[in-house]
Amino acid sequence: MAAQEPEVTTYPQKITFGEMRESGVRDVLIYCRDHRCSHHVETNADGWPDDVRLSGIEPDFVCTACGKRGAEVRPKFSHARMGTG
Ligand SMILES: [Zn+2]
Repeated sequence: MAAQEPEVTTYPQKITFGEMRESGVRDVLIYCRDHRCSHHVETNADGWPDDVRLSGIEPDFVCTACGKRGAEVRPKFSHARMGTG
């Protein structure tokens, strides 16, 4: 294995999936960390345990568009509950 330059990437601590669900959010948006790429996907967060932080899964993602490792995970706030439906 060739040694690769370790990229210094910080993953600020975020809320847990449990806390996110408590606030009524069931989906997350996963953004590529490369701003020039800006690829993102939306996914249901039910598969992650309550005690896992959003920031805890970020290093595991690899962008399917540019191949860059590491993501930015954000809760997908829905306005459904606030609307008139
Ligand atoms: Zn990307």
